[in-house]
Amino acid sequence: MSARIIDGRTVAKRIQNQLRERVAAFAERGRPIKLVAVQVGDDPASRMYVNMQRRRAEAVGIAYELCQLPATCPEARLVETIDRLNNDPNVTAMIVQMPLPESMDPRLVQVRIAQEKDAEAIHPANMGRLFYDDYKIAPPTPAAAVMLLHGACADLSGKEALVVGHSEIVGKPIAAMLLASRQAAPTVTVSHVATRELAEHVHRAEVLIVAAGASQRRWAAFEASGRKSDPPDLRPLIRAEDVREGAIIIDVAINYVPKALDEHGRPVLGRHDAPEMHAIGDVDFDGVLHKAAAVTPVPGGVGPVTVAMLLENTLACARFQADG
Ligand code: NAD
Repeated sequence: MSARIIDGRTVAKRIQNQLRERVAAFAERGRPIKLVAVQVGDDPASRMYVNMQRRRAEAVGIAYELCQLPATCPEARLVETIDRLNNDPNVTAMIVQMPLPESMDPRLVQVRIAQEKDAEAIHPANMGRLFYDDYKIAPPTPAAAVMLLHGACADLSGKEALVVGHSEIVGKPIAAMLLASRQAAPTVTVSHVATRELAEHVHRAEVLIVAAGASQRRWAAFEASGRKSDPPDLRPLIRAEDVREGAIIIDVAINYVPKALDEHGRPVLGRHDAPEMHAIGDVDFDGVLHKAAAVTPVPGGVGPVTVAMLLENTLACARFQADG
């Protein structure tokens, strides 16, 4: 078997093209759409994500503004900023970039954002609507993963689906969305860091959605130990030999890890003597190509569609505010 590679970039482009037309049609009603990103501090990964959001938003006709706060600002200032954006009629939707500084409580942000301006659908009420299959916006990454899955498998009814990872922003919403259909839901198993015999669950799965970030966690732990422990195994969590023949695989994870380590656990250096890093998923992509029916690559799978879903949510917020 040779797996179909699910090309997230092409899917994202298609969504963006449709969005551009729908945003233009909405703007004709005299209500321009604006997405505001709040960033506390200057995390480099978060900055890259902000730049990408801006490019994609502006490409579909959504105005984008970055509101940057210093990493040292008190939590109250973040709360004030969210309140101001909630009350500003020119702001359609907002996103608070993660991670926040340690001193700030992300849960406070979640409950403070007005439900109708919540571009990432993180407010508990928006999360709850996933549960009742009564939602117009969903967290962008789970929405992207589930959309790509539906594109690869028209009928999930009764299928054995395994979600690896149970975080509040990825794994749990994916499980809720998969279970949303009363009549045609798959049988969903959720595994996590405490799961025993992960391989057995993987082997049973006809549908596999993986969001653990395992290689990066191992690398981060090794770095944090001052590289004193044995060099970590950075290979993807899901091995090809454990995957069921014909499985459909959505790899959500992005592990930014060294391409190779020397015998001391130091990253092998590349050009300009910089460590050679690469982004990989949680699934042995090359290994499953001959076993799976379909698989998303990393990068180029779920990631590009996530941004498109964020912009879909922004348009949905605009519509909700205009029409109720
Ligand atoms: P998280 O750290 O909050 O949660 C990780 C989850 O994986 C937890 O439920 C944990 O129990 C589980 N886990 C960890 N190690 C495991 C193991 N060895 N076996 C089984 N389960 C294990 O992470 P998150 O925010 O949910 O993100 C998960 C991954 O998805 C990360 O790689 C992240 O970079 C990626 N991500 C991608 C996008 C995107 O747009 N593509 C967006 C968000 C997150």
